[in-house]
Formats: sequence, C-alpha cells, structure tokens
Amino acid sequence: MARIAVGGLHHETNTFAPLKATYEEFALGGGWPGLQRGEAFYSAFAGMNLPIAGAIEVLKGAGHTLLPLVWAAATPSAHVTEDAYERIVGMMLDDLRAAGPIDALYLDLHGAMVTEHLDDGEGELLRRIRAVVGSDIPLVTSLDFHANVTPEMIEFSDLMIGYRTYPHVDMEATGKRAAEALLSLLETRRKPHKLFETLPFLIPLPWQCTMAEPAAGIFRELAAIEAETGARLSFTPGFPAADFPYCGAAVFGYGGDPGKTRAAVQRLKEIVLKREKEFAGRIYEPDEAVAEALRRPAGKPVVLADTQDNPGAGGSSDTTGLLEALVRGRAEQAALAVMWDPAAAQAAHAAGAGADLTLGLGGRSGEGHRPFRGGFTVERLGDGRFTGTGPMWGGAQMNLGPMALLRIGGVRVVVASRKVQGADQSIFRHLGVEPPAERILALKSSVHFRADFAPIAQDILVVKAPGAMLADPADFPFRRLRPGLRLRPLGPVFAP
Ligand SMILES: [Zn+2]
Repeated sequence: MARIAVGGLHHETNTFAPLKATYEEFALGGGWPGLQRGEAFYSAFAGMNLPIAGAIEVLKGAGHTLLPLVWAAATPSAHVTEDAYERIVGMMLDDLRAAGPIDALYLDLHGAMVTEHLDDGEGELLRRIRAVVGSDIPLVTSLDFHANVTPEMIEFSDLMIGYRTYPHVDMEATGKRAAEALLSLLETRRKPHKLFETLPFLIPLPWQCTMAEPAAGIFRELAAIEAETGARLSFTPGFPAADFPYCGAAVFGYGGDPGKTRAAVQRLKEIVLKREKEFAGRIYEPDEAVAEALRRPAGKPVVLADTQDNPGAGGSSDTTGLLEALVRGRAEQAALAVMWDPAAAQAAHAAGAGADLTLGLGGRSGEGHRPFRGGFTVERLGDGRFTGTGPMWGGAQMNLGPMALLRIGGVRVVVASRKVQGADQSIFRHLGVEPPAERILALKSSVHFRADFAPIAQDILVVKAPGAMLADPADFPFRRLRPGLRLRPLGPVFAP
C-alpha cells in the first residue's frame, strides 16, 4: 500500500478588487471550511461537494495510507498577502517534511492565486513542493474551472484536472477523477506526456455557464475526445480579472503517447476557437432590468443577477446599485441576497424584530461606493447557521454570523455578517423568505446561483450594477496581460 500526502490551497484573485486575503481570511474560510490541518481532514470535509472530499474517499477506499497536510481556502478577493501565503505554504512544506517518505501527492488547488509578491501562487507552491519531494513522486492536482493555468503549474505537476461545470456541481467528482488518475500513475510508474495551450481571448464569467451553449457543447465534445483517445483533457475558461500574463482560458491534456495527446489537445482547442463568438449575451443596466422584470407576468420569479458584485469573484457583496434601482422602480415582492453588512445586522439585532430603523446599508468597502440610506423595518432575525440545500451547496454548514431581513417598501434585503454568494435558496429560507413565491429575486452571483434558482425562475437577467467583478473584461484597466490577447470574445486586443 502506498503512502499518499493530501492537501489543498484555494484562492481566486481579482487583482482589481478592493480587499486582500489575509491569513485570518484563510483561517475562517469564508464560505469554505476554515483552515484544516492533519487528522481533522477526515471529519471536516466528509460529505461535502469539495475535491478533497472526493479524493480522500477514493484514495482511502483503495486502501492507501493518507498523510494529511494543510488545506485552506479564502473567499475570492484581491491579492493574497505575502504573510498569508508564506505562513500557509510554510505549514504545507513542514507537514510534508514531517510526513517522511511518500509515494505520491494529491493537491486540491484552485489555480488563480496572485499574491502580493508572486504572479503565480500555485506555480511557486508546486516548485517548492518538488524541491522537497523530488521530481519522481507522482503529483496530481484538481483545479477550479476558473483556474488561470501557467506553464510552471504544468511543469511542476504530473497531471492536473479541471472541473467541468459552472455552477461547480462536480467539485467532489473532480477530486475523485484526480485521485483515480493518481492511482493509475502509481500503478504504471510512467509519467504522462503533457500539452498545454492558451486560448487567445478572455471569457466573461456570465457566459462561461455550462448549463448553456457554447460551454455545454464544448464539454460534451471534450468527453467524446477523451473516450475516443484515452487522453485526460481539461478546458479551463479562466478567471478574467487577474492582471498577469497567464490570465485567461486554456486547454491541456495528458496521455501515454505524445502524438495522440497532442492531437487530442489540438482538437479541443479548435472546438473552443470555433465557438468564440457564442460566449456572449445581453447585459442590462439596473433600472432597465427592474422595469423589464416588472413587465413580466406574475407567476415564477424573475432573477436579476448582480454579477459585478459577486463575492465569489472578488466583489464586496455590499454595493447598492441594484437595491437603489429596485426601490426607485417601486418593485413589489422583491428580495435581494446577500447584502454583507455586519454593522447593519448588529443594529437590527439590537433593535429587535418588528422595529423600524433608519440606517445606511452596505456600500462601505469599495472605492466610489456609498451606503443606501433609508428607513427599514426589521422583519426577521437569524443566527446565520443553517444547512445548504441546493445542488452545489447541499449539506454545507453555513455560518454567516448574525443575519437580518430588512424591508423597505416592497423590497426585502437579506443582510449577513459574512460574505457568501446568493446562490442557494436556504439563505432566503433561513429568514422566512420562500424564493419561488417572490416576483423578483436579486442575487449577488454571476453563475453559481443558476444551479438552484434556474429551476424556479421564469427568466434570468444579467445586470451590470457597480461592483468589482466587471462583466466585460475589456472594462478592466489591464496592464500586464499577454500582448495580442483579446479582452473579450472577438473583442479589442490587449496592447501593453
Ligand atoms: Zn470557480
């Protein structure tokens, strides 16, 4: 039986976002489990839709001895601080040295980490790990769908496998796939051939969704090429808000035969290139979206996706542009989630359910944002502890701190003390709001919400209210991308 080290590190860095990821953000974990080390692994992730959970299940199931390292994740934000990176990577390397001789290594990585001192957090992590374990030990990682993959990441690992869904309903399944690949490398004792190719355009988050074309079709074709050739392929559409040369989409693959592996990756690349213009859709201004939603017939809710303030992409989850538009448009039966404002939640708890309050809500963390001032009624209070129910977060233990449901006119706002994407119906139900009964649901999320809300919505409108995750990457003031990269599909070309 083999001795296999397992660990993980996740951060998706929006280099244009207002707040950095400190060590404390990783210690708490945001919407993720907090930092885990050692034996705690076996209970912390059990039953969760996370790659580490799937990998542990497969590797343990095969009878191997697992040596847990550190696992940590923080909510997407601006750069990871040098302190946080060095402390966590230091723990991982210490744990690896303490583990003694190992036969293989699995890492649960995101793959889009920019730190205060490094462009490519994962490439450097893998390089340092190789310096400890040597180049022979099989090293496999899973990667997020939004990984910004670099040549160093490819060089210092033997095999990487990306998620195939956005919303990410296959995180656990990807961990299992990566673990199975690791077991096959252990068995054959042969390093696979690899090929990595970048794609020449950035893909906006709202149009990366795999519940729609073109992404759905591309992943069907990816699976067909794999079945035909035996290559292990990934298409990572990338996280288009990181100002460094390897920001963007990529395809890569692994196989036993160099020629066949190359051909499989090239075929996949051609498929993505051919569909470039399809990564597009309509984006509404906030007032236009509210008016359009109010024109729709009663019945199922219309979802307004506040994509630019998505805390899953570096948004502060407290901008007020869409809330202002809902109130200005006299929306009725409208509910918004999640407004991150610990002070407002505290004020609501102090005032009590049923009380009237005048306060400035949200709008605190980004430059140029301001709180929404108004008179609210405290409709309901919550402790922020509940269990996720949707396809992505079902079973996840939420801990959003003190929460409150504040009403202004026909608009109700779910206020929380910690950030989480408005992507699971349980967030509303915790405060007594029944999502299917609302006329308008305003969600601070880009795509993840679709897993749980598309089935109950009559339509989904993507809205461009102020926030840190610009819906059109061409709007970011990039300075350090690769020359020639198109800033959106068929869009303007980056020139330094
Ligand atoms: Zn992602």
